[in-house]
Amino acid sequence: MPNGYMGKILWVNLTDGTFKEEDLPEEIYRQYLGGIGLATKLIYENLPPKTDALTPESVFGFFPGLLTGTVAPLTGRFMVAGKSPLTKTWGDSNCGGYFGPEIKKCGYDAILIKGMAESPKYITIIEDNNQILDASDLWGLDAVQTEDKLKEKYGRVQIASIGQSGEKLSLISGIVNDKARLAGRSGFGAIMGSKKLKAIVLKGAKKIEVADNNALIQHTKEYNEGINNATVGGIEGYRTLGTTMGNEILFKIGDTPCKNWGGTKEDFPPEKLSKISGVEIDKYKQKPYGCFSCPVRCGAIMKVPEANLEETHRPEYETCASFGHLLLNDDLMSIFKANDLCNRAGIDTISAGATIAFAIECYENNLISKDDTDGLELTWGNSEAIITLLNKMINREGFGDLLADGSKIAAEKLGKGSEYAMHSMGQELGMHSPKYYKNMGTTFAFDPTPGRHTTASLDFFVMGPIIKPNGLFEGITLPRKFKRPGDDRSEAEKLFTAIMQFTHSIGLCEFAYVFQKYPLLELIKAVVGWDLTIEEAIKTGRRIQTLRQAFTLREGIDIIKNRIPERTVTVDYLEDYKGYCEKMGWNPETAYPLKETLTDLNLDFVIKDLF
Ligand code: SF4
Repeated sequence: MPNGYMGKILWVNLTDGTFKEEDLPEEIYRQYLGGIGLATKLIYENLPPKTDALTPESVFGFFPGLLTGTVAPLTGRFMVAGKSPLTKTWGDSNCGGYFGPEIKKCGYDAILIKGMAESPKYITIIEDNNQILDASDLWGLDAVQTEDKLKEKYGRVQIASIGQSGEKLSLISGIVNDKARLAGRSGFGAIMGSKKLKAIVLKGAKKIEVADNNALIQHTKEYNEGINNATVGGIEGYRTLGTTMGNEILFKIGDTPCKNWGGTKEDFPPEKLSKISGVEIDKYKQKPYGCFSCPVRCGAIMKVPEANLEETHRPEYETCASFGHLLLNDDLMSIFKANDLCNRAGIDTISAGATIAFAIECYENNLISKDDTDGLELTWGNSEAIITLLNKMINREGFGDLLADGSKIAAEKLGKGSEYAMHSMGQELGMHSPKYYKNMGTTFAFDPTPGRHTTASLDFFVMGPIIKPNGLFEGITLPRKFKRPGDDRSEAEKLFTAIMQFTHSIGLCEFAYVFQKYPLLELIKAVVGWDLTIEEAIKTGRRIQTLRQAFTLREGIDIIKNRIPERTVTVDYLEDYKGYCEKMGWNPETAYPLKETLTDLNLDFVIKDLF
């Protein structure tokens, strides 16, 4: 077993209540690293094609990154992965906090779950004692109550759980850890709910062996000094306001959508915009906090007496945009409330806000009336109605039940309004406009897990040091003309996709891309001892992305035929995608990886599935 790894993964079968440990060979670690990399390999091989994601046969798991659990800066993150019940494609969701490192401390490089319990259960993995226990007294509690109750019983443990939305199989529900960190996208809360798995409780004391502790400490110290000494720019902004520093500026530059993606700046004028700014939100801050091993600490605990919230968490930019700008809602207290409700219920804030935007537009255009909405007057910016409707969605009550699986399914059930459902294959679009970040259209439409702003959107991150030669990672320089359509841009998209999948496999937070130069390969060498080259890193990233792609294609999904709503995009994203496919070694007409590409990436086992 290489340094940095625990050398085994844990399988939990909820049908027969058994645990099984499995050793992984070093070659698998070297080819897939950890996090999203291990996830693609293990899920692809263990989840039979076209399995309904909400059945006992469905497999999903938790995958800490290669560096997760070490002191390497910003690497405390983990992936939840499996088949998305929402989009029916490959699904993954990245999350921070302290749950990921605890998986390693328990002695595992991944925890995979299959089967289905007959009654509510929770799993404990506590100091080498693994159990599946009755959760009937937890079922019905929100995620914060669940965490409190389990901590009362077990003390200092790390917990991932579902709230009411996951229990009620909402397809836009997620998994909550650290009371407010949500693996929100792809619908994994519904998978846990379908398996009647309320929570996973972890406590371990295993040590991660590292190859060169002095080098690890030295690189970490140097990086953290750079962060701690920063007084201007992105780092300081993140540290003070978190992602809410984008609430005003991103709208002003034309990135943040408003009025269900159909509005203009005049619809949300400066006097409204300023009411939900990061600075306004910051007035309620009690103390900052961050994920494991992060010197930036972009999260914050808030106290908001006006919203009856004694202790809550700072809403992220995405939440402010989906419950603010998108709904033309300038009532900050309602955004605090919506954020708190979503965190507790374990429902994705982007999808929840965007689905309410869909309902409002249907109402405003007389497709539905008060007869349909349980009497709610669903007008733009009606914050009281927004919160009432959110509560109904969480509890699947009345009109809320119709919306609880997102806007695509709501439009299908209504039999009208699909033109107002702003999604890609069922996943509501992240709160960043492809009209501003042009490459976002390609990502929203064609990434193996569609609709996501966090997967390989080149333009989104070019505000950071990556635009300078060797500016972010040593050895990576974007091609000169990457901003204009053409060969350089396609090459840059391939490169950036590969980097992103690679960094997700080591557990690195994406925000690192906008801070300062990151000692990527040096840290891997210090922890594992491998002399990884940047070329191998890029090839590994391509391998992971190609396997994510193969998973979605194996489901019978013709991803290249997917389209995103016209009002969200201006560029020819299909042409853009074809150029990217060529660079990835995929057929630009079908988006299928070429056989020689699969062989080159050591993915021969995929050939029989796709050809
Ligand atoms: S920057 Fe924020 S999200 Fe990223 S690791 Fe640090 S605290 Fe977590």
